[in-house]
Amino acid sequence: MLRQTRSVFQKLRCLRGQQRTWRLKSTSATEAALQYQPGQKVHGFTVREVVAVPDLFLTAVKLTHDKTGAQYLHAARDDSNNLFSVQFRTTPMDSTGVPHILEHTVLCGSEKYPCRDPFFKMLNRSLSTFMNAFTASDYTMYPFSTQNAKDFQNLLSVYLDAVFFPCLREQDFWQEGWRLENENPTDPSSPLVFKGVVFNEMKGAFSDSERLYAQHLQNKLHPDHTYSVVSGGEPLAIPDLTWEQLKQFHATHYHPSNARFFTYGDLPLENHLKQIQEEALSRFDRIDPNTEVPSQPHWTSPREDHVTCCPDALSPDPTKQNTLCVSYLLGDITDTFEGFTLSLLSSLMISGPNSPFYKSLIEPKIGTDFSSVVGYDGSTKEASFSIGLQGIAEEDTERVKEIINQTISDIIENGFEEERIEALLHKLEIQIKHQSTNFGLSLASYIASSWNHDGDPVELLRISESVAKFRQALKENPRFLQDKVKHYFKENTHRLTLSMSPEDAYLEKQAKAEEEKLHKKIEVLSDSDRKEIYEKGLELLAAQSKTQDASCLPALRVSDIEPTIPITPLEMSLTGGVPVQYCEQPTNGLVYFRAMCSLNSLPDNLKPYVPLFCSVITKMGCGDLDYRQQAQQMELRTGGMSVSTQVIPDSTQLDTFEQGILLSSSCLERNLPHMFELWSEIFNRPHFNDEERLRVLVMSSAQELANGISHSGHMYAMIRAGRHLTAAGDLQETFGGMEQVKFMKRIAEMSDLTQVIRTLPRIKKHLLNPASMRCAVNATPQKMSDAEAQLESFLKDVAANRKEHKRVREDIISKPLDPQKPLDPQDASGGSRNLVSEQHFQPCQMKTYFEMPFPVNFVSETVRTVPFSHQDYASLCILARMMTAKFLHGEIREKGGAYGGGARMGGVGLFYFYSYRDPNSVQTLSAFHKGVDWAKSGCFTQQDIDEAKLSIFSTVDSPVAPADKGMLSFLSGITDEMKQSHRQRLFAVSHKQLVEVAERYFTVGQKMFGVTILGPENETIKKDPSWLVL
Ligand SMILES: [Zn+2]
Repeated sequence: MLRQTRSVFQKLRCLRGQQRTWRLKSTSATEAALQYQPGQKVHGFTVREVVAVPDLFLTAVKLTHDKTGAQYLHAARDDSNNLFSVQFRTTPMDSTGVPHILEHTVLCGSEKYPCRDPFFKMLNRSLSTFMNAFTASDYTMYPFSTQNAKDFQNLLSVYLDAVFFPCLREQDFWQEGWRLENENPTDPSSPLVFKGVVFNEMKGAFSDSERLYAQHLQNKLHPDHTYSVVSGGEPLAIPDLTWEQLKQFHATHYHPSNARFFTYGDLPLENHLKQIQEEALSRFDRIDPNTEVPSQPHWTSPREDHVTCCPDALSPDPTKQNTLCVSYLLGDITDTFEGFTLSLLSSLMISGPNSPFYKSLIEPKIGTDFSSVVGYDGSTKEASFSIGLQGIAEEDTERVKEIINQTISDIIENGFEEERIEALLHKLEIQIKHQSTNFGLSLASYIASSWNHDGDPVELLRISESVAKFRQALKENPRFLQDKVKHYFKENTHRLTLSMSPEDAYLEKQAKAEEEKLHKKIEVLSDSDRKEIYEKGLELLAAQSKTQDASCLPALRVSDIEPTIPITPLEMSLTGGVPVQYCEQPTNGLVYFRAMCSLNSLPDNLKPYVPLFCSVITKMGCGDLDYRQQAQQMELRTGGMSVSTQVIPDSTQLDTFEQGILLSSSCLERNLPHMFELWSEIFNRPHFNDEERLRVLVMSSAQELANGISHSGHMYAMIRAGRHLTAAGDLQETFGGMEQVKFMKRIAEMSDLTQVIRTLPRIKKHLLNPASMRCAVNATPQKMSDAEAQLESFLKDVAANRKEHKRVREDIISKPLDPQKPLDPQDASGGSRNLVSEQHFQPCQMKTYFEMPFPVNFVSETVRTVPFSHQDYASLCILARMMTAKFLHGEIREKGGAYGGGARMGGVGLFYFYSYRDPNSVQTLSAFHKGVDWAKSGCFTQQDIDEAKLSIFSTVDSPVAPADKGMLSFLSGITDEMKQSHRQRLFAVSHKQLVEVAERYFTVGQKMFGVTILGPENETIKKDPSWLVL
């Protein structure tokens, strides 16, 4: 078998001509950049420094703009996913959210592109792989990335014009910031309320107690300057901001003299410089922006403080909802090596079961998990380190403080094991080698904070130098790290102990404070003011409803999209009796291993436990290793080992799906035998009996799930709404929906976990079974046969787990793994996937309301449609995109004030309408229905359709990392040929087809749908018997 595979690989190597040109081109990008000379003048810029950074395969070129002093860094690298970002140092001195509201409003139209909302419109006129804007505590960043050179130019032009020459119209400020408006804008007698996108966004953000805590902690640890205010906006301070103040903030902060430009990728630097100079910088002179952040004066004695939050109805133990954490102010982040050392030190102190704080705080189960802010934070001018717990009882807070002090003393006394330091440096090596698809964006965020305070971004990129310096420091002084702990923690008097506890009347108080604020604003209004507010509200509504002319904006055309996709060569063969997919990739010395294990023989009553099984199976110890040793070995030898649940829809049949779990891991080539040895022990001798360990893991999973709802509420609503619509829906809800959240809460509340401990080995017997498993390996061609040999010996080691279990259900069908090889019992080399096929499944309609302690809603209506290979699937994808951009965005976000909303076609054959952090509920449902009417009316243009196509293709063609190539085929059986057919159907979607699918799938009475809302108590819905309120 081995030999045969090898010959196949030789064949594959001959096919890899295209990839070779990819490599040549890459070399030339980094080499071309090396030709720049310090002192050289290029388009108004002067080159300051040119540095090769071989670790990251890039050349860094640092420049400054002559006339304005704008700073520029280019990272030339073998990567077609080019990135641009511009960041401004934005240092507000109040909590009105001025930088955040400005970030929103500059994207509402500019001098050259005056149409409303060019940013959102460009999403549909571009093949961007990423477009966004962020407001941090002390900077605002505007990044985009794309693989297309023309697109790069277009987006650059729109971005430059937006940030430097925005319109900043009063209406934009009302829409994005805040405004007083009649609750119903067309009814002047309806009450006046606060509206505005950022106003609602921040109300939503602070309904998340973790976020609230993090904000308080930062404000109170740095009390003397910009970090003492809320840069995103304190909801009740937002209505103090005026339009004049907003414009003033723009003039002083969004200036080239206060800007840092970053570009990344294989496009030539010179073109970027020319365009930036011509379209923006040449129009400015130098100013002194005066935005420096002074150092925080250090306290002479530690401080304590307390805040309150909303009680969490889903927390595993309602009596344990307190958070306590100690935060230490560290050194200036522009000291690169000190920052590097402190962030490593932080990992040693808190990461994984071998770290001293995990042992002293997590394992005694005083709380459910670390506090939401934990470890090193280098996002402020002076870094900080925080350590503490959430989910603790009030009487335990003193104990937590004592433990923290004691642990620090113990660290100073005992230091760290050498092996742990090695494991950490190994992890760093893997992180550097792992090729991600958003490398440019990661770099931009990695350097942003230090550069923002004039640290040297190039120095930050030279990670190997820091590693060498670190090793040297340890060699010279074995107490190097202990001395740091003594200095930064034990002897540091600038430290804050902040506790947070739930307050029953919290929401009421918030609501009352908002009412008072509103009252204050309203009581001074004269009749003519009210009339003006009403009229302005109508004007805004009219502007929002007007059809937009976006023709001023640059756009790619559908003809700019590549008509065909490149084929990824895959080889399927049988290794050790198990089907394996091999995919040769430039993985940079890493090997990626996956195994998909079927759930078909698992009894239904065990299914709710599968997510728990997945999260603990690699964390409880195995073979001779206890869980600490196992974690150590995993860090030392692998890039991580994890297991996740999978519910994979069939591409042709709606009520057919595969159910399983996916094992994933990676390692450096030299560690292959170690990685497989760890998997062998997990298969052969996993530990399940340590109840104490299990309880720790259960509690942190339950806490994580409960915390996740406030930022992923729309996902929970979508999954729930689809629960009864397809055969797979119920399992999806069981594994990843509200049912799972509730299930884990119940487990976390059990005083005795014996029953769970008995259940886990039963699940293991069914799942970790080579008889119903298939594997995938991505590695370099040089390493492939070695990987195969190692995999074969692993499969031999676990062969005893091979069992032919009886399937618990009858309706299982088999499909070939390799579509080129039809199933042939004589030749099993292709292997098969065994899918559940419920041909007689009856969908049913449900409307479910989850009452949650949030001030905002997450709304979803989900409709049963067709699977991936159906001819209408492509039309539904385009329809979802077009309806979002041309209708729902305006209704739900602009008019409704939600943070987001739209429609999406899902691979599971469901079409989702959704909204995110939405002040409305029932009104949003009717917006969905109006969207359908709009689609059926056919009142859209060819331009609208083309834009939706571009937008869909930017997703379809988003780059795939070498580690993930071939995975869609491996998991779902969707081959490159099938993707190509889908591609052709997408190109062909017509106006007529769009109207037809809107009628076919969304007509009331015909459609099969489910609705779910997560939101606060809702009187209208409570009274409506068609709703199930939970
Ligand atoms: Zn925002």
